[in-house]
This record gives sequence, C-alpha cells and structure tokens, in this order.
Amino acid sequence: MARSRKAPDTDDPPPKLSGESLRAARWLSGYLVAHRMRLFIAFAALCCSSAMGLCFPFATGTLVDSALGTVAIGIDQIALLIMLVLAVQATCSFTASINFMTASERALASVRQDLYGRIIRLPMAFFSARRVGELAGRLSGDLAKIDDFLVAMLPHLLRQIILLIGGIALIAATSWKLTLIMLATIPPAIGVAILFGRKIRDLAKEAQDRLADTNVVVEETLQGVATVKAFGNEPFEVHRYATGLDAFLTVALKGARFRAIFIAFIIFALFGGLVLVLWSGAKMVSVGTISPGELARFLLYTAFVAGALGSFAEVFSSLQQALGATERVREILREEPELLTSALPAAPRFAGEVRFEDVAFTYPSRPESPVLQGLSFEVKAGQKVALVGPSGAGKTTAISLLMRFYDPSAGRVLVDGRDIRELALTDLRAQTAVVPQDVILFGGTIAENIAYGKPGASPAEIEAAATRAYAHEFVVGFPDGYETRVGERGVQLSGGQRQRIAIARAILRDPAILILDEATSALDSESERLVQQALDALMQGRTAVIIAHRLATIRRADRIYVMQEGRAVESGTHAELSERPGGLYQSLARLQFGEIEA
Ligand code: ADP
Repeated sequence: MARSRKAPDTDDPPPKLSGESLRAARWLSGYLVAHRMRLFIAFAALCCSSAMGLCFPFATGTLVDSALGTVAIGIDQIALLIMLVLAVQATCSFTASINFMTASERALASVRQDLYGRIIRLPMAFFSARRVGELAGRLSGDLAKIDDFLVAMLPHLLRQIILLIGGIALIAATSWKLTLIMLATIPPAIGVAILFGRKIRDLAKEAQDRLADTNVVVEETLQGVATVKAFGNEPFEVHRYATGLDAFLTVALKGARFRAIFIAFIIFALFGGLVLVLWSGAKMVSVGTISPGELARFLLYTAFVAGALGSFAEVFSSLQQALGATERVREILREEPELLTSALPAAPRFAGEVRFEDVAFTYPSRPESPVLQGLSFEVKAGQKVALVGPSGAGKTTAISLLMRFYDPSAGRVLVDGRDIRELALTDLRAQTAVVPQDVILFGGTIAENIAYGKPGASPAEIEAAATRAYAHEFVVGFPDGYETRVGERGVQLSGGQRQRIAIARAILRDPAILILDEATSALDSESERLVQQALDALMQGRTAVIIAHRLATIRRADRIYVMQEGRAVESGTHAELSERPGGLYQSLARLQFGEIEA
C-alpha cells in the first residue's frame, strides 16, 4: 500500500471522478454483481417505498383542500388512505434495507477474504518495507469506509435520487413557475458545496494520516509494553502520543471549522430557498392561481427535493472516501504475491546439501547498506553447521535467504546443487523447518500449535512428536493436557517449554533441512538440558544450519562459520578455531561463551 500522504485523486475536482476512481468503482461493483438477485429485489422494493413516499405530500395536499371544501373526497377516507400508504411503504422499506444490507455485507466479506488471502501471500519484502501496525490500522479503516458506503450510503443515495427526480416531476406538474424559482436556488448552493467539499475532503484525508501515525505509537508500545516499562519510558511514550495527537487535532479541528461553516451555509441556502418559494406561493394562492392544498403539496415536495439535495453532499463525500479506500485496497491487491508453486515437477525429498555461493544481499528498504557481501559457505547433507558472529553480521539475513523470503542480489543459494530460485516455494519450505529464537505460539490449544508443523496431523502423531521433543511430560501435567489453550486467554508457557513445542512442531514436519535460531536468553540448567536433548533428537539425520549462541551447540557442530560484515571470515571446527590465535572466533568465544575449551 502506498504510504504517500496524498491520494492519487486529490487534484481532481470532486464531481469529476478520475479514471482510477471509476476503475475502483467497477472493481467494487464486481463483488456486488454476485448478489444481483438480492440487489434487484432490494432496488424494486426501494422504488416502491420511494413512490409511496412521494404519494404522501400529494395526499396531504388533498387533505388540506378537502378540509377547505375545495375537493369532494372526505377527510376520513384520505387519512385512511395515507395510513395504508405508510404501511406499504414500511413493508417495502424493510424489504429494501434487509436485502441491501445482506448483499453489501456479503460482498464486503468477500473483499475482506480476498484481501487477507492476498496479503498473507505477499513476499517478506512487502512486510519489511512497512510498519505492520500502520498497515493493519489503515486496512481496517479503509474497509470500514467501504462498508459504510455500501451498507448505509448506497441505499440512501438511490432513495434520494428517486425522491429527487420524482419530486421535481411532481412539483413541475403542480406549478412550473414555482418549480423554476426553486430550482434557481440550487446551482449556487452546489457551487459552494463543491468548493467546500474539496477542502473538507483534503483535510479529512490528512487527519486520517495523522491519526494513523498515533495508532502506530499505541500499537508498538502496547506490543512492546514490557520494554517500555523496563526502561521507565511511560512519560516519554505519553509525550510522543500527545505530540502525534496534537498534530491530528490541529488538522481535525481545521476540518471541523470548514465543515461547520459549510453546514451553516447549506442550512441558510435551503431555508432561504424555501422562504422564497413560500413567498411566491403565498402570492399565487392570494390571486387564486393555485389552491392552498396545492401550495402545501408543493412545499412538502420541495422539502423532499431539498432533503435529497442536501444529503448528496454527505453521500458524495462518503462515496469519495469509499473510492479512495478502494483504490488503496486495490494497490495492495496489485502487489505481486509470492509464486508458491512452479511449473516444474515437485522436487523429491532433499538430501539436504546447502551451499551459499558468493551471495550478496541488500534489504530493499535500506538500499544504502548492503548486508551480505559475498557470503559463501557449505553444509553437506546431514551436517550441522553453526553460524556465529557479532550481532548485525547478517546471520539472520542469510537464513531468510535460505527460506527464500528474499532473493540474493548476486550469487546463488543452492540446495542439493539446485538454485533455490528453480524450486517451487512450497517444495522448498515444505522440506525446511525453523525453530526460531522467539517462539510465537498462536492462540489455540497445544495440540493445534504442534500440528502447525503438519496441518491435519493425528493426535497420535502429535503426541509422538511431543514425546521426542521432551514436551509430553509437561503437557500432560496441565489439567487439559494437549487441549490446554495457550496464549492470551490460556496458560503462559515458559521459554524452555515454548521452545520444546516449537521443536515438536519441527519434528512433526520432518524436514530435510533444519534452521535453528538459538535463543540468546539463558534458560535454567534443567530447561537447557531438556531443550538440548530435544534438539539432538530433532537434528538426527537432518542438515542443520544453526545461528549458535550456546557453547554446547558450537562444540557439537561439524563446522563453524564465523561471520563478519556479511562474509564468512573464518571457518573450521571449534577445536581448530580455538587454536587459531588472534582470530575473530577466539575473541568472540571469549565474549559470547565466556570460555574456550577445545
Ligand atoms: P545478525 O542476525 O547477524 O545479528 P541480521 O541479519 O539480523 O544480523 O542483520 C544484518 C543487518 O541487516 C543489520 O544491519 C540489520 O539492521 C539489517 N536488517 C535486518 N533485517 C532488516 C530488514 N527487514 N530491513 C532492513 N534492514 C534489516
């Protein structure tokens, strides 16, 4: 999604919709077409209910004339007729609303579904270039605007159009002279509305951007609330929020002033027009050109027409907002998703040989600082290789490239001698599993979380995996066992427990290549032992690439690559590297592990 502060259609005057807006409207209507039967019924009912609405002033005028004795129909009959009209109108109105809303909500649910389905498939580069909090906030705001227009404004717009056309036709039939007087007041009002509408829209857009900025603060700090508290930075964040909020308020209040002036003007124009019509109408009644009932009828129709015109400003701004929102949604839908499958035949099970050949990589969001600069290393099938190096050396990035979250800008990443760009993403990722540093468990049961490694796994498989991951014991210790809920509304697992769940997940996935990002935080020695045993079980018979922080892992690694500034600068076994005096490994080992033992 574009983070530009200026929507593409800002430069167009509001009544003229840009080509992009029209395309957005056409795209949105594509979702509505799926519910055309409902919409047709709704529209028919709406026409009927509006027509009944138009009968009302006519009947009222006749009632006045009947009271004055100018027409022959009795007052009671007319009153009864009006009640009947109202009853029919209510029924039609119900039918119209319920069908419109159902169709719109369903159409919007499809939009949401498609959008989410698309976003989750977008490449990592898309997410790393954006603040996810802002993205989520903006999307829900955009969808709310589309929702508002489809569900509330669209039926309203159609009803008002019918009332406007019908109303004008009927008043013209009553007195074309009065009609002309009334219509003459419209163009100036519309002119002012356009001028103000444009300004108000721009300010509203800006206010929205400012509000999105403040929402980012809220989301980031609530997600990382422990960090905020640990640093005692509550006052700092409150201040940051207040500054953002101030910026928003300034723009919002400016918008409010314009809106208030605009509303006052519209009210003045509307009632001014009404007074003008009333004045000329009263003159016509006094000379007998029209009857008092006709004047009453005329005034009521005029009120309808004025009401319809008055509401167009609001409907139009809602339409503009919805179209702007639709454009932004479509921008996301236009992003290229990851191509998960390839035309090539599915890869057989990998042997698990991994090779980086002179790989260079720069994050698209930070083009000025290359992260990998000619990284080469090799992991033979079944070997365990540890990557070590100072933070920022590019270890995590190397692993992201192996998962093909990004493609290298130069060089190649090979698995079993094939460039991974030739493999289908689903194949590549199906045969790799990651045990991350910070294990994220999704809200759900423990069983569901383990099964994330292999959707549809049987309870027996899940239990077997948990047993091999040394997790079974603590899981059955919970009253609900594998059905225990974790996360926000369930039990909180310790770091070591979470890691063992992640290991069980990976065991269940049974990958050829294992990627391990060891937790930097130390576990207590009992947890440490269990996690290590679980990892040993997991690594058996697989290739493992490990970002290592533990001495135990390093000692067991078949080969260690020491990374610095995006390159592998030293390699060898722990014993070999420890004996190399003055090497980076020695100083790192001393810092990171506190000791060097051969
Ligand atoms: P390590 O895992 O060795 O600590 P990383 O691979 O995480 O190193 O980071 C290497 C460099 O890449 C760092 O300078 C980091 O700031 C940068 N970096 C990491 N992730 C991103 C990202 N998503 N976008 C831009 N820069 C990034």
